[in-house]
Amino acid sequence: MQLLKEHSAMQYDVIVIGSGPGGYVAAIRCAQLGLKTACIEKYATYGGTCLNVGCIPSKALLDSSEHYYNASHAFKTHGINLDNLSLDMAQLMKRKTEVVAKNTGGITFLFKKNKIDGYQGIGSFKDKNTISIKKPDGTEQEITGKNIIIATGSKPSSLPFIQIDKKRIITSTEALTLTEVPKHLILIGGGVIGLELGSVYSRLGAKVSVIEFMDSIIPTMDRGLGKELQKVLSKQGREFYTGHKGTGATVKGKEVTVTFDAPNGDKKELKGDYCLVAVGRIAYTDGLGLDKIGLTVEERGRKITVNDHLETSVKGVYAIGDVIKGAMLAHKAEDEGTFVAESIVGQKPHINYNLIPGVVYTWPEVAAVGQTEEQLKAANVKYKTGSFPFRASGRAVASGDMDGFVKVLADAATDEILGVHIIGPRAADMIAEAVCAMEF
Ligand code: FAD
Repeated sequence: MQLLKEHSAMQYDVIVIGSGPGGYVAAIRCAQLGLKTACIEKYATYGGTCLNVGCIPSKALLDSSEHYYNASHAFKTHGINLDNLSLDMAQLMKRKTEVVAKNTGGITFLFKKNKIDGYQGIGSFKDKNTISIKKPDGTEQEITGKNIIIATGSKPSSLPFIQIDKKRIITSTEALTLTEVPKHLILIGGGVIGLELGSVYSRLGAKVSVIEFMDSIIPTMDRGLGKELQKVLSKQGREFYTGHKGTGATVKGKEVTVTFDAPNGDKKELKGDYCLVAVGRIAYTDGLGLDKIGLTVEERGRKITVNDHLETSVKGVYAIGDVIKGAMLAHKAEDEGTFVAESIVGQKPHINYNLIPGVVYTWPEVAAVGQTEEQLKAANVKYKTGSFPFRASGRAVASGDMDGFVKVLADAATDEILGVHIIGPRAADMIAEAVCAMEF
């Protein structure tokens, strides 16, 4: 991170703590609106989880691994023959690192352009307007702000009975920097992050087994999507244990043993060389000194409570992104960053949380917006369903991507679109059209 200058006793209109998609967007929007803005980041580069150890590096690896998979599996049917195909893991990871650097460097540029003061260090409250910054060299500095935006994000959560050693028993963060393709990667958790990283290594040649506690993978999405995705990924060679509960993971040399319980209570175990624990993320507020301003966090999820204006119970202290309720998604955090900045200057911004889409970048991709069938049923909403399989689309046949479907849920009486659920090629791109249709 390039620090702009050494600041002393600086006063700001807004101090943003955390520079992830929530924090950097909030800081830039505040500066654009004429507010004197500072952003504090404890790591050496801006961009938070998303740019450094989340969305961006995972998408870079997904793209590289997809090229490799297509070259080794799909090219032949297109009449393209390759000799001596091989994988250069070091180059694949180097490219990912370069992609990350380009993106984090982009934030440094935008901060400079918008005259935002960047501070490297851990920000913590002294009082509701004073933030102390503990810098990497151990020194401390205080800055003051009329408004504070907490955007400290989240970190991977684990299971109390599993010790993450970061070498063989790993989280998503370590899974982004492996130097070899696992022989057998055992995933605990069949949610978005686990399935995406499982896809990377499966495409590169690893055997991937998924243990999921719920009776379906991607359990928070429409059930039809999880069922179809499991079917397709099984065809690609992945092994699933849904309804199974992980109970432990131990390491001996290079071997990991993962134990788990079947739905009928039978004890099972798998042996592999890596275990990726991807059981969700937990809000991150360590070291923030929330107690100094009388704030507490929810017991479960450790989230900070905010009102409809994303303001905490302390006036002038806001919180956005993964650290508050709602979907843990980069674009949700970004929208909230803009929302708070505009609220601070007295504008009346609006976020339609129902229309924040969610995407799983497996292949086929999965993308959805609005209500699921399960939610509509629970709310006693009368709806009708329209479904179309990609198999019946000439374009899908031409590209050889025939798995999946598009499902549209509409109000039975008014035809208003209530939810769109897609599993299929380029679902991530197509969902934007559904969002527009539903918004307008
Ligand atoms: P974060 O990005 O977590 O940023 C918080 C920042 O605050 C961090 O840089 C942290 O160092 C800093 N910080 C914390 N405490 C302090 C402090 N006291 N002082 C100073 N700095 C502090 N989302 C998507 O929408 N699409 C995806 O494809 C996607 N893929 C993902 C893949 C993976 C592997 C992971 C892990 C996540 C993915 N996500 C994705 C989720 C996305 O990364 C998060 O939702 C998003 O980063 C949240 O943004 P945020 O600004 O709330 O917090």
